Amino acid sequence: MGLTEKEVWEIYPDFWGRNVWSGKKRRAKPYIGVGKGWWPLIAEVMKVIKEECETHDIDIFKTDVKEKYASLRIYINHGTDKVWDAIDHAEEQSVVTCEDCGSKGELVIINGWHRTLCKKCIKT
Ligand SMILES: [Zn+2]
Repeated sequence: MGLTEKEVWEIYPDFWGRNVWSGKKRRAKPYIGVGKGWWPLIAEVMKVIKEECETHDIDIFKTDVKEKYASLRIYINHGTDKVWDAIDHAEEQSVVTCEDCGSKGELVIINGWHRTLCKKCIKT
């Protein structure tokens, strides 16, 4: 198992984003509704974003992170080529990574919901 949600936020807290009205950095962590199996994928993207922000003195933060059509979607205010590549890679990995546990997963449809899960998590 990879990093926990808490550890992921510690990598790059500025990824939390901004208050849309004041533009100030958020103090509270936003809710991100994806399973713990995908948090290591988010962590990889955050590492790249942090490096790019430090290298180019820019400010990148999330506008939304969610599951859509059984894959991980990461939306940001703006990015660099390296950041977009990292986001594409995370999305590609998410379609073969169990959202619940991080093992090798595949697309399943449960009661009309599209999910990416491993064989073990399908049963539970
Ligand atoms: Zn699983």
